[in-house]
Amino acid sequence: MIKQYLLAPGPTPIPPRVLLKMAEPIVHHRAPAFEKIMEEVREGLKYVFQTEREVLVFASSGTGAMEGAVSNFLKRGDKAICVRGGKFGERWAEICEQFGVIPVNIDVPYGKAVDPADVKKALDENPDVKAVYVQASETSTGVAHPVKEIADMVKERENTIIVVDAITALGVFDVPTDAWNLDIVVAGSQKAFMLPPGLAFAAVSEKAWKLAEESDLPKYYFDYRKEAKSIVKNQTAYTPAVSLLMGLCEVLRMMKEEGLENIFARHARLAKATREGVKALGLELFAPDSPSNAVTAVKVPEGIEGGKITKIIRDEYGVTIAGGQGSMKGKIFRIAHLGYADKFDVITAISALEMTLNRLGYPVEFGKGVGAAMKVLEEE
Ligand SMILES: *Cc1c(COP(=O)(O)O)cnc(C)c1O
Repeated sequence: MIKQYLLAPGPTPIPPRVLLKMAEPIVHHRAPAFEKIMEEVREGLKYVFQTEREVLVFASSGTGAMEGAVSNFLKRGDKAICVRGGKFGERWAEICEQFGVIPVNIDVPYGKAVDPADVKKALDENPDVKAVYVQASETSTGVAHPVKEIADMVKERENTIIVVDAITALGVFDVPTDAWNLDIVVAGSQKAFMLPPGLAFAAVSEKAWKLAEESDLPKYYFDYRKEAKSIVKNQTAYTPAVSLLMGLCEVLRMMKEEGLENIFARHARLAKATREGVKALGLELFAPDSPSNAVTAVKVPEGIEGGKITKIIRDEYGVTIAGGQGSMKGKIFRIAHLGYADKFDVITAISALEMTLNRLGYPVEFGKGVGAAMKVLEEE
Protein backbone atom coordinates (compact mmCIF):
# COMPACT_ATOMS: atom_id res chain seq x y z
CA MET A 1 0.00 0.00 0.00
CA ILE A 2 1.11 3.56 -0.67
CA LYS A 3 -0.85 6.17 1.28
CA GLN A 4 -1.86 9.07 -0.94
CA TYR A 5 -1.34 12.77 -0.27
CA LEU A 6 -2.76 15.43 -2.57
CA LEU A 7 -0.55 18.51 -2.56
CA ALA A 8 -1.32 19.98 -5.98
CA PRO A 9 -2.91 23.40 -6.56
CA GLY A 10 -6.34 22.00 -7.23
CA PRO A 11 -8.17 19.88 -6.64
CA THR A 12 -7.15 20.10 -3.00
CA PRO A 13 -7.99 17.79 -0.06
CA ILE A 14 -11.48 17.96 1.43
CA PRO A 15 -12.07 18.03 5.20
CA PRO A 16 -13.89 14.94 6.53
CA ARG A 17 -16.80 16.96 7.95
CA VAL A 18 -17.35 18.44 4.47
CA LEU A 19 -17.22 15.02 2.80
CA LEU A 20 -19.85 13.80 5.24
CA LYS A 21 -22.13 16.75 4.48
CA MET A 22 -21.94 16.03 0.78
CA ALA A 23 -22.85 12.40 1.43
CA GLU A 24 -26.17 13.40 3.00
CA PRO A 25 -29.37 12.79 1.04
CA ILE A 26 -29.81 15.37 -1.64
CA VAL A 27 -32.58 17.94 -1.23
CA HIS A 28 -34.76 19.38 -3.95
CA HIS A 29 -33.45 22.68 -5.23
CA ARG A 30 -36.83 24.43 -5.25
CA ALA A 31 -37.72 23.31 -1.71
CA PRO A 32 -37.38 25.38 1.49
CA ALA A 33 -34.60 23.10 2.77
CA PHE A 34 -32.42 24.19 -0.15
CA GLU A 35 -33.28 27.85 0.26
CA LYS A 36 -32.08 27.65 3.83
CA ILE A 37 -28.75 26.26 2.70
CA MET A 38 -28.48 28.93 0.03
CA GLU A 39 -29.24 31.70 2.50
CA GLU A 40 -26.35 30.60 4.69
CA VAL A 41 -24.10 30.14 1.66
CA ARG A 42 -24.82 33.71 0.52
CA GLU A 43 -23.82 35.10 3.90
CA GLY A 44 -20.71 32.95 4.10
CA LEU A 45 -19.55 33.87 0.60
CA LYS A 46 -19.92 37.55 1.42
CA TYR A 47 -17.68 36.95 4.43
CA VAL A 48 -14.94 35.23 2.43
CA PHE A 49 -15.13 37.70 -0.47
CA GLN A 50 -15.23 40.58 2.06
CA THR A 51 -18.13 42.18 0.24
CA GLU A 52 -21.63 43.50 0.74
CA ARG A 53 -22.51 42.38 -2.78
CA GLU A 54 -24.23 39.17 -3.70
CA VAL A 55 -21.83 36.46 -4.85
CA LEU A 56 -23.14 34.53 -7.85
CA VAL A 57 -22.75 30.75 -7.93
CA PHE A 58 -22.43 28.62 -11.07
CA ALA A 59 -22.21 24.88 -11.56
CA SER A 60 -18.94 24.86 -13.50
CA SER A 61 -15.22 24.93 -13.02
CA GLY A 62 -13.64 28.32 -12.37
CA THR A 63 -13.22 29.04 -16.06
CA GLY A 64 -17.00 29.29 -16.46
CA ALA A 65 -17.11 32.35 -14.21
CA MET A 66 -14.04 33.74 -16.03
CA GLU A 67 -15.84 33.40 -19.36
CA GLY A 68 -18.88 35.12 -17.88
CA ALA A 69 -16.68 37.93 -16.62
CA VAL A 70 -15.98 38.72 -20.26
CA SER A 71 -19.24 37.86 -22.01
CA ASN A 72 -21.49 39.76 -19.59
CA PHE A 73 -19.69 43.07 -19.49
CA LEU A 74 -18.07 43.83 -22.82
CA LYS A 75 -19.13 44.52 -26.37
CA ARG A 76 -17.79 43.13 -29.61
CA GLY A 77 -14.74 45.20 -30.57
CA ASP A 78 -14.12 46.48 -27.04
CA LYS A 79 -10.54 46.55 -25.82
CA ALA A 80 -9.40 44.86 -22.63
CA ILE A 81 -6.01 44.74 -20.93
CA CYS A 82 -4.95 41.19 -20.12
CA VAL A 83 -2.03 40.60 -17.78
CA ARG A 84 -0.35 37.53 -19.27
CA GLY A 85 2.21 36.15 -16.84
CA GLY A 86 1.24 32.51 -17.04
CA LYS A 87 -1.30 30.04 -18.26
CA PHE A 88 -4.24 31.61 -16.48
CA GLY A 89 -3.42 35.15 -17.60
CA GLU A 90 -3.24 33.79 -21.12
CA ARG A 91 -6.68 32.31 -20.59
CA TRP A 92 -8.14 35.80 -20.10
CA ALA A 93 -6.78 36.82 -23.51
CA GLU A 94 -8.05 33.62 -25.13
CA ILE A 95 -11.55 34.18 -23.79
CA CYS A 96 -11.51 37.78 -25.01
CA GLU A 97 -10.47 36.69 -28.51
CA GLN A 98 -13.22 34.09 -28.66
CA PHE A 99 -15.81 36.77 -27.93
CA GLY A 100 -14.46 39.33 -30.36
CA VAL A 101 -12.93 41.49 -27.65
CA ILE A 102 -9.52 42.90 -28.55
CA PRO A 103 -6.95 41.99 -25.91
CA VAL A 104 -4.26 44.54 -25.09
CA ASN A 105 -1.73 42.09 -23.73
CA ILE A 106 0.82 42.89 -21.09
CA ASP A 107 3.29 40.04 -21.34
CA VAL A 108 5.06 39.44 -18.07
CA PRO A 109 8.03 37.06 -17.88
CA TYR A 110 7.00 33.82 -16.18
CA GLY A 111 7.85 33.89 -12.51
CA LYS A 112 7.52 37.67 -12.26
CA ALA A 113 4.68 39.87 -11.10
CA VAL A 114 3.33 42.56 -13.41
CA ASP A 115 4.80 46.02 -12.87
CA PRO A 116 1.90 48.39 -12.06
CA ALA A 117 3.73 51.02 -14.17
CA ASP A 118 3.21 48.80 -17.23
CA VAL A 119 -0.50 48.64 -16.51
CA LYS A 120 -0.60 52.41 -16.13
CA LYS A 121 1.18 52.80 -19.46
CA ALA A 122 -1.30 50.48 -21.17
CA LEU A 123 -4.21 52.36 -19.60
CA ASP A 124 -2.80 55.72 -20.69
CA GLU A 125 -2.12 54.51 -24.22
CA ASN A 126 -5.55 52.92 -24.51
CA PRO A 127 -7.97 55.23 -22.71
CA ASP A 128 -10.87 53.32 -24.26
CA VAL A 129 -10.14 49.96 -22.58
CA LYS A 130 -13.22 48.65 -20.84
CA ALA A 131 -11.59 46.18 -18.50
CA VAL A 132 -8.34 45.03 -16.94
CA TYR A 133 -8.11 41.27 -16.45
CA VAL A 134 -5.59 39.94 -13.97
CA GLN A 135 -4.87 37.05 -11.58
CA ALA A 136 -4.42 37.76 -7.88
CA SER A 137 -2.46 34.51 -7.76
CA GLU A 138 -1.11 33.11 -11.03
CA THR A 139 -1.16 29.44 -10.11
CA SER A 140 0.92 28.30 -13.07
CA THR A 141 3.98 30.29 -11.95
CA GLY A 142 3.31 30.72 -8.21
CA VAL A 143 3.21 34.51 -8.50
CA ALA A 144 1.01 37.04 -6.68
CA HIS A 145 0.25 40.12 -8.82
CA PRO A 146 -0.12 43.61 -7.25
CA VAL A 147 -3.89 43.74 -7.52
CA LYS A 148 -4.44 46.65 -5.14
CA GLU A 149 -2.09 48.95 -7.05
CA ILE A 150 -3.87 48.15 -10.32
CA ALA A 151 -7.28 48.56 -8.74
CA ASP A 152 -6.31 52.01 -7.44
CA MET A 153 -5.56 53.11 -11.01
CA VAL A 154 -8.71 51.62 -12.47
CA LYS A 155 -10.89 53.17 -9.79
CA GLU A 156 -10.11 56.64 -11.21
CA ARG A 157 -11.41 55.65 -14.65
CA GLU A 158 -15.13 55.89 -14.99
CA ASN A 159 -15.56 53.44 -17.86
CA THR A 160 -12.99 50.80 -16.97
CA ILE A 161 -13.43 47.88 -14.61
CA ILE A 162 -10.92 45.58 -12.94
CA VAL A 163 -11.62 41.87 -13.06
CA VAL A 164 -9.66 39.66 -10.69
CA ASP A 165 -9.24 35.92 -10.99
CA ALA A 166 -8.83 35.14 -7.29
CA ILE A 167 -9.24 31.41 -7.72
CA THR A 168 -6.11 30.58 -5.68
CA ALA A 169 -6.13 33.82 -3.69
CA LEU A 170 -9.49 33.94 -1.92
CA GLY A 171 -9.21 32.10 1.35
CA VAL A 172 -5.40 32.20 1.08
CA PHE A 173 -4.37 35.84 1.38
CA ASP A 174 -6.12 39.15 1.73
CA VAL A 175 -8.00 40.29 -1.41
CA PRO A 176 -10.82 42.40 0.03
CA THR A 177 -13.35 42.89 -2.76
CA ASP A 178 -15.07 46.02 -1.51
CA ALA A 179 -12.18 47.73 0.28
CA TRP A 180 -10.02 47.53 -2.85
CA ASN A 181 -12.85 48.45 -5.26
CA LEU A 182 -12.48 45.26 -7.25
CA ASP A 183 -15.27 45.24 -9.83
CA ILE A 184 -15.44 41.53 -10.49
CA VAL A 185 -13.84 38.84 -8.36
CA VAL A 186 -13.97 35.26 -9.55
CA ALA A 187 -13.30 32.10 -7.52
CA GLY A 188 -13.78 28.35 -7.77
CA SER A 189 -14.51 25.47 -5.43
CA GLN A 190 -11.52 23.14 -5.80
CA LYS A 191 -8.79 25.39 -4.46
CA ALA A 192 -8.92 27.14 -1.07
CA PHE A 193 -12.65 26.40 -0.78
CA MET A 194 -11.69 22.81 0.07
CA LEU A 195 -14.39 21.29 -2.15
CA PRO A 196 -14.41 19.06 -5.21
CA PRO A 197 -14.35 20.87 -8.57
CA GLY A 198 -17.71 22.02 -9.87
CA LEU A 199 -18.59 25.43 -8.43
CA ALA A 200 -17.58 28.87 -9.68
CA PHE A 201 -18.26 32.17 -7.94
CA ALA A 202 -18.38 35.81 -8.99
CA ALA A 203 -18.92 39.08 -7.11
CA VAL A 204 -19.90 42.08 -9.26
CA SER A 205 -19.78 45.83 -8.52
CA GLU A 206 -22.34 48.48 -9.47
CA LYS A 207 -19.83 49.93 -11.91
CA ALA A 208 -19.60 46.56 -13.67
CA TRP A 209 -23.39 46.07 -13.69
CA LYS A 210 -23.66 49.35 -15.62
CA LEU A 211 -21.40 47.91 -18.33
CA ALA A 212 -23.52 44.76 -18.35
CA GLU A 213 -26.51 46.77 -19.57
CA GLU A 214 -24.71 47.57 -22.83
CA SER A 215 -23.01 44.22 -23.37
CA ASP A 216 -23.92 42.54 -26.65
CA LEU A 217 -21.81 39.40 -26.40
CA PRO A 218 -23.56 36.01 -26.54
CA LYS A 219 -24.31 34.29 -23.25
CA TYR A 220 -26.88 31.85 -22.03
CA TYR A 221 -25.85 29.63 -19.13
CA PHE A 222 -23.29 32.10 -17.78
CA ASP A 223 -25.75 34.98 -17.74
CA TYR A 224 -24.72 36.98 -14.68
CA ARG A 225 -27.80 39.18 -14.67
CA LYS A 226 -30.13 36.21 -14.66
CA GLU A 227 -28.24 34.66 -11.72
CA ALA A 228 -28.26 37.96 -9.82
CA LYS A 229 -32.07 37.95 -9.94
CA SER A 230 -32.23 34.37 -8.67
CA ILE A 231 -29.70 34.51 -5.87
CA VAL A 232 -31.57 37.15 -3.88
CA LYS A 233 -34.40 34.62 -3.72
CA ASN A 234 -31.96 31.96 -2.47
CA GLN A 235 -32.15 30.27 -5.82
CA THR A 236 -30.09 29.72 -8.94
CA ALA A 237 -31.47 30.08 -12.46
CA TYR A 238 -30.77 26.45 -13.37
CA THR A 239 -30.37 23.26 -11.36
CA PRO A 240 -27.52 23.95 -8.94
CA ALA A 241 -24.85 21.48 -7.83
CA VAL A 242 -26.89 20.78 -4.70
CA SER A 243 -24.48 18.43 -2.94
CA LEU A 244 -21.54 20.74 -3.54
CA LEU A 245 -23.55 23.61 -2.08
CA MET A 246 -24.31 21.50 0.99
CA GLY A 247 -20.56 20.98 1.30
CA LEU A 248 -19.90 24.66 0.70
CA CYS A 249 -22.25 25.57 3.53
CA GLU A 250 -20.09 23.46 5.86
CA VAL A 251 -16.83 24.87 4.43
CA LEU A 252 -18.03 28.40 5.04
CA ARG A 253 -18.82 27.50 8.65
CA MET A 254 -15.26 26.20 9.04
CA MET A 255 -13.82 29.34 7.50
CA LYS A 256 -15.86 31.54 9.83
CA GLU A 257 -14.80 29.47 12.82
CA GLU A 258 -11.13 29.90 11.93
CA GLY A 259 -11.53 33.53 10.88
CA LEU A 260 -10.02 35.19 7.81
CA GLU A 261 -7.06 36.66 9.70
CA ASN A 262 -6.06 33.23 10.99
CA ILE A 263 -6.60 31.65 7.59
CA PHE A 264 -4.26 34.17 5.98
CA ALA A 265 -1.67 33.73 8.74
CA ARG A 266 -1.78 29.94 8.39
CA HIS A 267 -1.22 30.11 4.64
CA ALA A 268 1.58 32.66 5.04
CA ARG A 269 3.38 30.38 7.45
CA LEU A 270 2.94 27.22 5.37
CA ALA A 271 4.16 29.07 2.28
CA LYS A 272 7.20 30.45 4.06
CA ALA A 273 8.05 27.04 5.52
CA THR A 274 7.83 25.46 2.07
CA ARG A 275 10.03 28.13 0.54
CA GLU A 276 12.66 27.83 3.28
CA GLY A 277 12.51 24.04 3.02
CA VAL A 278 13.27 23.92 -0.69
CA LYS A 279 15.92 26.63 -0.44
CA ALA A 280 17.71 24.66 2.30
CA LEU A 281 17.98 21.80 -0.20
CA GLY A 282 19.86 24.10 -2.53
CA LEU A 283 16.92 24.49 -4.88
CA GLU A 284 15.90 27.78 -6.45
CA LEU A 285 12.47 29.37 -6.19
CA PHE A 286 10.86 30.17 -9.55
CA ALA A 287 9.10 33.29 -8.23
CA PRO A 288 11.29 34.62 -5.42
CA ASP A 289 10.20 38.27 -5.66
CA SER A 290 6.44 38.02 -5.44
CA PRO A 291 5.49 34.52 -4.37
CA SER A 292 1.88 33.48 -3.92
CA ASN A 293 1.08 31.94 -0.57
CA ALA A 294 -1.07 29.34 -2.35
CA VAL A 295 1.62 27.45 -4.20
CA THR A 296 5.41 27.35 -4.35
CA ALA A 297 7.02 26.96 -7.76
CA VAL A 298 10.53 25.53 -7.73
CA LYS A 299 13.09 25.33 -10.52
CA VAL A 300 14.07 21.81 -11.50
CA PRO A 301 17.78 21.49 -10.69
CA GLU A 302 20.29 21.22 -13.51
CA GLY A 303 20.78 17.72 -14.85
CA ILE A 304 17.49 16.32 -13.55
CA GLU A 305 14.46 15.59 -15.67
CA GLY A 306 11.53 17.58 -14.23
CA GLY A 307 8.94 15.02 -15.23
CA LYS A 308 10.75 12.41 -13.16
CA ILE A 309 10.38 14.40 -9.94
CA THR A 310 6.59 14.63 -10.16
CA LYS A 311 6.32 11.02 -11.32
CA ILE A 312 8.55 9.45 -8.66
CA ILE A 313 7.19 11.53 -5.81
CA ARG A 314 3.68 10.40 -6.80
CA ASP A 315 4.25 6.78 -7.82
CA GLU A 316 6.86 5.85 -5.23
CA TYR A 317 5.87 8.04 -2.30
CA GLY A 318 2.17 8.70 -2.90
CA VAL A 319 2.56 12.48 -2.94
CA THR A 320 0.88 14.32 -5.78
CA ILE A 321 2.43 17.69 -6.58
CA ALA A 322 2.21 19.54 -9.90
CA GLY A 323 4.70 19.97 -12.70
CA GLY A 324 5.01 22.99 -14.92
CA GLN A 325 2.35 23.81 -17.51
CA GLY A 326 2.93 24.67 -21.16
CA SER A 327 6.42 26.01 -21.81
CA MET A 328 7.31 25.52 -18.12
CA LYS A 329 6.82 21.77 -18.42
CA GLY A 330 9.87 19.96 -17.09
CA LYS A 331 11.40 23.22 -15.89
CA ILE A 332 9.52 23.74 -12.63
CA PHE A 333 7.46 21.78 -10.13
CA ARG A 334 4.83 23.20 -7.82
CA ILE A 335 3.97 22.33 -4.23
CA ALA A 336 0.57 23.55 -3.09
CA HIS A 337 -0.23 24.62 0.46
CA LEU A 338 -3.74 25.97 0.27
CA GLY A 339 -7.15 25.12 1.62
CA TYR A 340 -7.27 22.16 3.97
CA ALA A 341 -3.51 22.33 4.51
CA ASP A 342 -1.49 22.40 7.69
CA LYS A 343 2.03 21.96 9.07
CA PHE A 344 2.43 18.28 8.34
CA ASP A 345 1.42 18.72 4.73
CA VAL A 346 4.52 20.86 4.32
CA ILE A 347 6.64 18.31 6.17
CA THR A 348 5.22 15.56 3.98
CA ALA A 349 5.96 17.51 0.82
CA ILE A 350 9.52 18.45 1.74
CA SER A 351 10.47 15.02 3.11
CA ALA A 352 9.05 13.25 0.05
CA LEU A 353 10.93 15.73 -2.12
CA GLU A 354 14.17 14.96 -0.30
CA MET A 355 13.72 11.24 -0.87
CA THR A 356 12.75 11.76 -4.51
CA LEU A 357 15.72 14.00 -5.28
CA ASN A 358 18.04 11.57 -3.54
CA ARG A 359 16.68 8.81 -5.71
CA LEU A 360 17.40 10.90 -8.79
CA GLY A 361 21.01 11.37 -7.77
CA TYR A 362 20.72 14.94 -6.54
CA PRO A 363 22.88 15.42 -3.43
CA VAL A 364 20.57 15.56 -0.42
CA GLU A 365 21.40 15.68 3.25
CA PHE A 366 18.28 14.06 4.67
CA GLY A 367 16.34 16.32 6.98
CA LYS A 368 17.94 19.55 5.86
CA GLY A 369 14.89 20.84 4.03
CA VAL A 370 12.52 19.44 6.61
CA GLY A 371 14.53 21.04 9.41
CA ALA A 372 14.38 24.44 7.76
CA ALA A 373 10.63 24.07 7.28
CA MET A 374 10.14 23.01 10.89
CA LYS A 375 11.97 26.09 12.10
CA VAL A 376 9.51 28.32 10.29
CA LEU A 377 6.55 26.29 11.45
CA GLU A 378 7.67 26.70 15.07
CA GLU A 379 8.54 30.40 14.82
CA GLU A 380 6.78 32.63 17.33
C1 LIG B 1 -7.63 26.64 -11.12
C2 LIG B 1 -7.56 28.00 -11.67
C3 LIG B 1 -8.49 28.47 -12.60
C4 LIG B 1 -9.69 27.72 -13.04
O1 LIG B 1 -9.46 26.56 -13.64
P1 LIG B 1 -10.66 25.53 -13.78
O2 LIG B 1 -9.95 24.32 -14.24
O3 LIG B 1 -11.60 26.07 -14.76
O4 LIG B 1 -11.30 25.41 -12.43
C5 LIG B 1 -8.37 29.77 -13.05
N1 LIG B 1 -7.41 30.58 -12.62
C6 LIG B 1 -6.52 30.18 -11.70
C7 LIG B 1 -5.50 31.16 -11.23
C8 LIG B 1 -6.56 28.88 -11.20
O5 LIG B 1 -5.68 28.49 -10.28
